[in-house]
Amino acid sequence: MDLDVTDVEQQVSTGVLPGASRIDELVDDAHARYRDLEDGRVADYIPVLAGVDPRLFGLCVAEVGGGLHGAGDAGVEFSVQSISKAFVYALVCEAAGHEGVRDRVGVNNTGLPFNSVMAVELNDGHPMNPMVNAGAIATTALVPGTTPAEQWENVRTGLSRFAGRQLELDGEVYRSESETNARNKAIARLLQSYGRIDVDPLDAVDVYTRQCALRVSAQDLAVMGATLADGGVNPLTGERVVSAQVCRDTLAVLASTGMYERSGEWLFEIGLPAKSGVAGGIVAVAPGKGAIGTFSPPLDPAGNSVRGQRAVAHLSRSLGLNVFASSVHVPERAEPLERQVPLA
Ligand code: GLU
Repeated sequence: MDLDVTDVEQQVSTGVLPGASRIDELVDDAHARYRDLEDGRVADYIPVLAGVDPRLFGLCVAEVGGGLHGAGDAGVEFSVQSISKAFVYALVCEAAGHEGVRDRVGVNNTGLPFNSVMAVELNDGHPMNPMVNAGAIATTALVPGTTPAEQWENVRTGLSRFAGRQLELDGEVYRSESETNARNKAIARLLQSYGRIDVDPLDAVDVYTRQCALRVSAQDLAVMGATLADGGVNPLTGERVVSAQVCRDTLAVLASTGMYERSGEWLFEIGLPAKSGVAGGIVAVAPGKGAIGTFSPPLDPAGNSVRGQRAVAHLSRSLGLNVFASSVHVPERAEPLERQVPLA
């Protein structure tokens, strides 16, 4: 689709966050509300993840102005997993350009699980979008670098620039997933058979597996998301990581595909581009305002953190973040938020 909008003056649609002490209060409130919620199951298909403490729960809001508001285990590290897909996509768009990556990887939802082989077969070998494993592996294959080691270094330094600090590999998670990721290897070979990736498929999977094993905290996720909310400038370091155009592209993809098969419902109820990962992280981005990072390992059947979804839903409403809301949210029914935001 070619929409020629290059000569149209651009305006942004945004508002402001409440003051710092009010954000602190609301973050503490969201944490206290959902701390004792015990629904969900910790992921175990990557064996080492099964051993994590299910009670961990961290929450952080990062403002585009640099303010940080954390509660609970906001500084505890875990593996970024699928959330890395969002930031590697941004780095690859920055390096390879909007059209190239759109044609090669796509931006449409598959409606199928994140590691579906059928989605590739049903779409003529096309990976469909960068948030499912096929598209993410195809995206990682496009990371600049002449060797897998160089590509990995570019991923690690790129994601570190989003976080504003050096991120490290969790060797145990990397090894555990490397021993059990036959399906991702099969997906990569399938993409190769359709001529969709040009590098060695197993090398692409290895770099992808490493990127998923980078250690982050909820606070890191909030800062990484706030960089996307801030037109690509890290609000803590002041460094430009990617262009404003790349941020728009990335957030659009997150809005349609970031929360697995529940992306539509998520956007409908919560109204924020977001990405979650199987280790229990979520990042949700409010363009022009900031971002929320959450960590809590128990997941719903789609793979999204249960407490994290609740906390983001609460903050989206109480901080006025829903990108579709043109006036203050007034609940129509006198029901608790839990029932207004049904989760799987
Ligand atoms: N490394 C995981 C995989 O590829 C990421 C899954 C996820 O977080 O959704 O299976």
